[in-house]
Amino acid sequence: MRLGLDFDNTLISYDQLFRQAALDQGLIPASTPPQKNAVRDYLRQVGQEDAWTRLQGEVYGGRILEAAPYPGMREALRLLAARAVPMHIVSHKTRYPFLGEQHDLHAAARRWLEQEGFHAPDGLNWSPEQVFFELTKDAKAQRIVDLGCTHYVDDLPEILDLLPDQVEKILFSPDGIAQPKPGWRVMRAWSELPGLLGHV
Ligand SMILES: [Mg+2]
Repeated sequence: MRLGLDFDNTLISYDQLFRQAALDQGLIPASTPPQKNAVRDYLRQVGQEDAWTRLQGEVYGGRILEAAPYPGMREALRLLAARAVPMHIVSHKTRYPFLGEQHDLHAAARRWLEQEGFHAPDGLNWSPEQVFFELTKDAKAQRIVDLGCTHYVDDLPEILDLLPDQVEKILFSPDGIAQPKPGWRVMRAWSELPGLLGHV
């Protein structure tokens, strides 16, 4: 078994941060729920597509350290490490935002992993070589194959669709909106992952 994990919206939740960053700039009403897609949909609806694009650069770059891990993520990864399951993060991100301040988004994501103790000896104690940020979805899918991942967790069905048959696909769907295809497994919460992999 070799487990691959997505980063954005799988390990790290931006829901609260998107709402907060948009509120700080006066872009949305306070009634907007703390969901990334609710913020996006509101801004699109009012013709503020560019503001949405800029907000993504701010959230994924300058303010990423304010984003929270999904509940139970660290505990699940710690348990799987104790069962000697090899693990990788394989994500895709542009290097810089499309609009706005030019934060290095790969470096920002690595800083978040540091903050959350991924590389701390008394934390998850991962090596930096376990983490890959690719520039495109296709490069990400290729990396997952090249690493020999037998299982891969992602919140986006379009990513799982890119993976070959031999990779077990696990759809992270915390709100139940993303729907699995036949043969995929669904993970509603991180606490379910060890059980899904047969490591309870
Ligand atoms: Mg994702």
